[in-house]
Amino acid sequence: MIEQSASVDWPAELMMHAQQRLRHEQTVRREACKVCGADAELFDVLDFARTCDVQPGAPPASGIPVYYRRCTRCRFIGTNFFDGLTRRQWTSWVYNDAYYSSIDPAYREIRPRANAGVVDAMLNDHTSDWRGLDYGGGNGETARYLQAMGYD
Ligand SMILES: [Zn+2]
Repeated sequence: MIEQSASVDWPAELMMHAQQRLRHEQTVRREACKVCGADAELFDVLDFARTCDVQPGAPPASGIPVYYRRCTRCRFIGTNFFDGLTRRQWTSWVYNDAYYSSIDPAYREIRPRANAGVVDAMLNDHTSDWRGLDYGGGNGETARYLQAMGYD
């Protein structure tokens, strides 16, 4: 049973999702790697509230486990915890106003624009020679900037 953190009132829907994911991770030994399809085994677990901000004052741990698997062939590490989330759940549970304002203010526009510039510089302006896939690209802004530069 997953207990709710005393300091944050996590939505009941998120707690139910976490319970289902926990049962799944405890019963399914291997899953197909999202990249190559080989077996991916349990690798690690992080707290749902863990962010890129590890400074003092960062949000307290939620007690909600997010399991990660590692592919036995290509070594890709990923989680299935967020698979199937609706847009509403994403914007409510993960990428919400509190996240944008206090954890990652560069997320919405500054970093995607900078990342697109870095990718463009790396590809040396060969826009028509490359076709890209923005995998795990957050809000998709990096891809939109690249498309505006002429990339497919
Ligand atoms: Zn793989």
